[in-house]
Amino acid sequence: MNDLSNSLAAADIAHSVHPYTNMRLHEKQGPMIMARGDGVRVYDDHGKEYIEGLAGLWSVAVGFSEPRLRDAAVRQMDLLPYYHSFAHKAHEPAIRLGEKLAEMAPEGMNRVFFTNSGSEANDTVIKMLWFMNNGLGRPEKKKFLARNKGYHGITIASGSLTGLPANHKDFDLPAIPVTHLTCPHFWRWGEEGETESEFTARLLKEAEDVILAEGPETIAGFIGEPVMGAGGVMTPPEGYWPGIEALCHKYDIILISDEVINGFGRLGTTFGCEKYGFTPDILVTSKQLTSSYMPLAAIIMNDKVYNAIADNSEKLGTFGHGFTGSGHPVACAVGLENLAIIEERDLIGNAARLEEQFQGGLRKFADHPLVGEVRGVGLIAGLELVADKASKRSFTPAGKVSAQAAKFAAQEGLICRNVYETLALCPPLIVTEDDIDQIIERMGRALDLTWEWVQ
Ligand code: PLP
Repeated sequence: MNDLSNSLAAADIAHSVHPYTNMRLHEKQGPMIMARGDGVRVYDDHGKEYIEGLAGLWSVAVGFSEPRLRDAAVRQMDLLPYYHSFAHKAHEPAIRLGEKLAEMAPEGMNRVFFTNSGSEANDTVIKMLWFMNNGLGRPEKKKFLARNKGYHGITIASGSLTGLPANHKDFDLPAIPVTHLTCPHFWRWGEEGETESEFTARLLKEAEDVILAEGPETIAGFIGEPVMGAGGVMTPPEGYWPGIEALCHKYDIILISDEVINGFGRLGTTFGCEKYGFTPDILVTSKQLTSSYMPLAAIIMNDKVYNAIADNSEKLGTFGHGFTGSGHPVACAVGLENLAIIEERDLIGNAARLEEQFQGGLRKFADHPLVGEVRGVGLIAGLELVADKASKRSFTPAGKVSAQAAKFAAQEGLICRNVYETLALCPPLIVTEDDIDQIIERMGRALDLTWEWVQ
C-alpha cells in the first residue's frame, strides 16, 4: 500500500484525482492498487488477498470473476457495440432488460428509463417529476422530501437530495428545494424513554407537519432508501415505510424507493420495498443490476408517472432528456446475464439463507468495547463505533477511529468501508458460509487491533 517506488503508484500520485479521497493524504500514502479478482476475493499488486466485504461499492453481486458476464459483453461488442435509444431508436438488449425489470418489479411498475449511474438516475427522477407536474398544470409542485444521512448521489440535484454533510459542505448544496427529515435510525435518534413505535409515530408526524407547513401542493416527491446504505447502514423502525407510503397517498406525493444498494437481493428480497411492505411509484436501481461490471442504472416507474410524462412529451413534441449512454447495449446485455445468474443460482435466496449466520455472527461484536450498535438485514450490516457505550458518544475527530479500523481490517485481509463512525459490510451475494466465518474472524481481529490502538 505504501510502496511509492512502485511506478504504478507513483504515476497514480502524479496524475490521478481520486473520488472521495483526501488528496493531500493520498500524495503521501499512495494508492492501494487492485490487480485481479476471484469470486468474493480481490488481490492487490503485491499479491495480497482480501475478502471484498463491501462487494466493491455495494455492488458486485456475482463476484469478481464471472465469465458469463465477460462473454455477454464480448458477444454484444461483436454484434452491436453501441447504439442509442433517442428519437424512437431501439436495440434488443435494452428492450429485453426493460421487459425483465418490469417483470421483476412490483405489480403495475411497467416502464423503464436507463441512465449510466445512480446519481444520473436520481437527477432524471427529479426532472421527470418537474416535467410531469408542469405538464399537469401544477408548476408549484416541485419540492422534495428526503432524510438526513440518506444517500442519493452526488450530482447537483441528486447531491441535494443526499443528506450527508460531506456532500454539501463547500459544494454549495442543496441547490434544489428539499427538506431533510430526521434520520429513521432508532438507536441513534430515538429519545430517552421512547419506544420504537413511538419513534416511528414521531417521524411520521414530523413528515406530515413539514408537508402541511410547506403545502402539499408544493411537494413533488419523497425519496428514501429502504435500508440506508452509504450514510451508515440504518434499518428503518417498525411501521415506518407503510406510514410514509400512506402520507404520500394522502397528499399526492410521488414515492421514490432508491434501491441502488437494496435492489436485486441485498436484503434477501428482490427489492427493499418488498421487505418493508410498501409499493413506491418509482424504483431507482443500479449497482447489482450489472454487478457493476458495466455502468448502468434503471428507473422503473408505474403507469401514473409514465402517463403524465408521456402526455407532456406529446404536448411539447419530445421528452427532452437522455444520455448518450442511456441503455447502452453492452451494459444492458451484461445486466440481463447478471440477472439471469442471480435467478439461476438463487442468490436472493442465498442472502436470505445466510442472513442469520452473517447478522448473528456480527451481532456478537455488540459486546466489544468499541462497538455501540451492530445492525443490518440480509447481507448488509454496519458496526457503529463509539468512544463510550453507555452514552453512545462518538469518537472525535469524527471518522478517525473507524478509518483506522478499516485499515486494520484490510491488513487482516478484509475490505470494509468506514462510513462516518460505522464499519459497513455488504459482501457479494455469492458469499458462502465459509466466507462469512472468515469475514467475521477478520473483523474481530480488526476490532481488537483498533481497541489496542485507541488505548
Ligand atoms: N443512490 C444510492 C442509494 C446509492 O447508494 C448511490 C451510490 O452509492 C447512488 C444513489 C449514486 O449512485 P452512483 O454512485 O452510481 O452515481
